[in-house]
Formats: sequence, C-alpha cells, structure tokens
Amino acid sequence: MSAVAEAVAIAPETREFLDRDHKLFIDGKWVDAHSGEKHAVYDPATEGQIATFDVADEVDVEAAIAAARRAFKGEWSTMNSYQRTILLTRLADEIDANLQTLAELEVLDNGQPMALAQYTTTYAANFVRYYAGWPTKIHGDTIPVSPMGVPNGESLTYTRREPVGVVGAIIPWNAPIAMFILKLAPALAAGCTIIIKPAELTPLTALKLCDLIQKIGFPPGVVNVIPGAGRIAGAALAEHPDVAKISFTGSTEVGQRIVQSCLGNLKKVTLELGGKSPVVVFPDADLEAVKVGAIRAAFFLQGQNCMAGTRLFVHQDVFDEVVQGVAAIANAMKIGPGLDPNNDLGPLISADQREIVMSYIQAGKDEGAELICGGEALPGKGHFVQPTIFAHPHQDIKIAREEIFGPVLFAQPFGDSDLQAIAAEANDSIYGLSGSVWTKDISVGLKMASLIDSGQVSINCHAAVDPAIPFGGNKMSGWGREFGQEGLEPYLKTKSTTVIF
Ligand code: NAP
Ligand code: MG
Repeated sequence: MSAVAEAVAIAPETREFLDRDHKLFIDGKWVDAHSGEKHAVYDPATEGQIATFDVADEVDVEAAIAAARRAFKGEWSTMNSYQRTILLTRLADEIDANLQTLAELEVLDNGQPMALAQYTTTYAANFVRYYAGWPTKIHGDTIPVSPMGVPNGESLTYTRREPVGVVGAIIPWNAPIAMFILKLAPALAAGCTIIIKPAELTPLTALKLCDLIQKIGFPPGVVNVIPGAGRIAGAALAEHPDVAKISFTGSTEVGQRIVQSCLGNLKKVTLELGGKSPVVVFPDADLEAVKVGAIRAAFFLQGQNCMAGTRLFVHQDVFDEVVQGVAAIANAMKIGPGLDPNNDLGPLISADQREIVMSYIQAGKDEGAELICGGEALPGKGHFVQPTIFAHPHQDIKIAREEIFGPVLFAQPFGDSDLQAIAAEANDSIYGLSGSVWTKDISVGLKMASLIDSGQVSINCHAAVDPAIPFGGNKMSGWGREFGQEGLEPYLKTKSTTVIF
C-alpha cells in the first residue's frame, strides 16, 4: 500500500476497493484476463503500489466485442427510450452517492488535487444526467418529396436515427472518470453498446464505475471495460471488424495510428487530441481576473490537460504586470499529494511524464527563453514539478510549438497590431482545441473569438465546459465534436425509407 494511502484517512470503501482482485468487466461479470497477466497501479504522489489489475489481451477484446454484439441485438435493443433514460439517471445518482470513494480513487490513481476530483466526479454525474434526457428526443424527419416522378401525395419518405452499433472507446489517463463518462453517456443514450479501454496508468475509477453499472442493472454486455495496453488491447479494438465506431481521446500521434487501424472496415472515428491553446489578453481586461484565469488555464490537472491555455499572449503595456502577477500566484501554489486538501498542485502521472516535462524546461532554457518562475522538479518521492513560466518575444522555440502536457506556460508580448495580426500569432500552431480572449471591449472579444481557429473560444474565462456545449478540435486537435446534441450524432446513423402507395 502507498504511504499516502496509509497516512491519510481514506473512506473504508476506498480501502476495500483498492485491496480487491481487479478483473475485467465483460458481459456484466468480473472475469479473469485470458493471459493471467497482472499489472500494478502506483500512486504518483508516493510512487507506492496501491493495487494490481488484470490486463486484457486480444482474446479478451474478442470476448468483450462478442458480448457487446449480443447485447446490441438482445434485450438492450428492445428497451424503450424511457428505460434508457431511467438507467442513465440511476447511474448519475449512483455516481453522486459514491462521490467520496470515486474522488479518492481518482486522486490516488491520477494524482490530481481532491477538490478537483470531487468537482470532476460531480461533473461526470451531471454529464450522465444531460445525456439521460436525450433518448426520448432522438427522432428522424418526414421529407415532403415525390421521388421518381410519383404524383404528389402518393408516397411517404421518412428517416430514422439508429444507433451505429458496437462502440470502442479508448481513453487517456489525465481525467479518467470524466473521460469514461464522456464516452459512455452519449453512446448509451443513442442505444449503442460499448467497450471501454482505460489508460494503463489509471484503470481504477473505470473499474469502480463498473460496480455501479452492475448494481443498476444494465443488461449484460451493454458496458464492458477492459484495462490493457494500448498497443495490444487498444489496437485490437480499433482493428476489429465488428466494432462500428471508435471514440478516441489521447495524443495526436496515437490518434493518427487509430485512423489507420480503422481503415479495414471503414469504421466511424471521432478523435479528441492534443492542444496548445492561446490565452490573449488586451490591456483593458480585468487584470486580476486574468491572473487567476491564466493560472487555471495553464496549471489545471498540473497542465496535463488538452484544453490547457499554454500560450499566453499579453499586450506589451500590461505584459510585465500580468506575467509577474501570474508568477506570484504560481510561486505561492502548494505542491503535494492530492489527498491533502491544502495542496493546489499534485504530481505528474509518472516518472516518464516528469522526464518529458523536464526535458521541455531544459529546452526552454537552452533556446534562450527567460525563466520567470519554477523550472525545477521536487526532490524525493512523487513526480512533482513546479509551475513554470517562460517569457520569449516569439514562438519559434520548441516550448511554444509543442504540447508539453505539464505545468509549463509560455508567455509572449504583442504590440498595437490589428486583430488579424494578433489572431495570426494565436493561430500559429498545428492545434486548434481551445482558447480565450480577455477584454472589457465585447466587440474586440467577439471579433477575436471569430478569428481564432479553435473548436472552442471563451471570452473572459478559459475553457468553459458544460455537457451541453459542443467541444472538440480543429486542425490536428481532432475530428468531430463531443458534448451536447452534436456529441450524440457520431453514435447515430440515418436510415431513409420511402414507400410508394
Ligand atoms: P495516448 O498515449 O495517446 O493514449 C491514449 C489512449 O490510447 C490510452 O488508453 C492508450 O493506452 C491508448 N493507445 C496507445 N497506443 C495505442 C494504439 N496503438 N492503438 C490503440 N490505442 C492505443 O495519450 P496519453 O499519453 O494517455 O494522454 C495524453 C494525450 O491525450 C495528450 O496529447 C492530450 O492532449 C490528449 N488529450 C486530449 C483530450 C481532448 O479531449 N482533446 C483530453 C485529454 C487528453 P495505454 O494507456 O496503454 O498507453
Ligand atoms: Mg501514452
């Protein structure tokens, strides 16, 4: 057991769950992995082992897909839309009822601060509630045409929206509960069945959620969860001809590989990938709000956040004030295990991730950027890195161009250019996921929002997320949108039917 798990009081349910034998969840049952292989789960704050879990291989993926196919054609397909609403609503209530255990497991597995884990768990419950309202609102159209020269009034054409079928979801480690629910809720609302492969580094909350799914009584096989390696279980899921759609969240590089894996049966693909989002600050903005907003934008989830605002563009007249103000807040942040409610910033997910982040910090120094604050990993156990800010007059250095996925913020001043030129700087990235504009002049805010090439732009806040607001990336940040009505679309297909009287 981890030192932190021993030292900090965690709920008895959390302890009991950690000590369990964690199997695969297939066809409504806990089953042993085919290979018998088990991997360890580590607490990133202490590096101590906190659990082990069964690792799925291709044979387990095959079994999960077979169960999901049976469920898709079986009882699930005969349930009416109200029954889907009732089951999803129960799941939301169960998430609320298990908030503390889910949040504690999320902190131990992923490292994030407790308050954040509680917030994202509540958010996940509300996300399920939002989609629980959809099954009764999915419908087709009647189309007033007279096809093939049939006289008017002697035919009927209508469309139906049907679930695409078996869905494979492959998710990352940075926000495990949220990622799980983001895939599950719209898929089930649409009437699909699903196989979810959590990230190898963070399987625990996905498995805890299966307890709730089992308790609620979803028909067996509607939800299957198979922790395993991306290159084995993830690849097998993406390649399988009986999977109709893959919903992937992760790196752009793996997203490209997924697209190739999906070519065999031309399965539908949605991709939520990396980001390097701009935060653009005009001199008339509420600078106190900017400082707090820039901290949240850059260091939420220790910067391991696809929406992170990691390129801070500030008008030259207020550049020093803003950057020094952001640095003052960053320097005052308490870094330590997420279970301690006094800590603002937890550890990075792994030693590998810390090494990657530290190599970017070194690159920033080597390429001549000015280190404003931070820049060091903390000695001792846990993968902790200080919140770090660099300033530089232009973006032609590595830390401005590549997604770091750690607590590193790049800041650059801009002068009295026109909005087109400022937007060109903000858009000088292969990514286009999120972004924010800070100004009291709403016409400047709206104009900049229209010029920034991202799937989401917020004015006077960063990354406004709500289950009803479509979210997704332009350029190399992805394909398609999640959240809201648009987030349901990829799980549905349209069938047109015409009858001639
Ligand atoms: P990753 O390496 O791309 O992994 C994501 C998922 O893909 C994991 O479950 C992984 O399994 C699996 N995987 C790896 N190789 C695979 C393959 N060949 N075939 C099928 N699946 C495979 O990403 P990560 O390092 O976990 O997360 C960081 C990245 O996610 C960042 O780039 C970040 O921007 C992005 N992200 C995007 C969003 C968004 O909404 N746009 C949200 C969060 C994160 P393993 O666990 O075994 O590696
Ligand atoms: Mg990875």
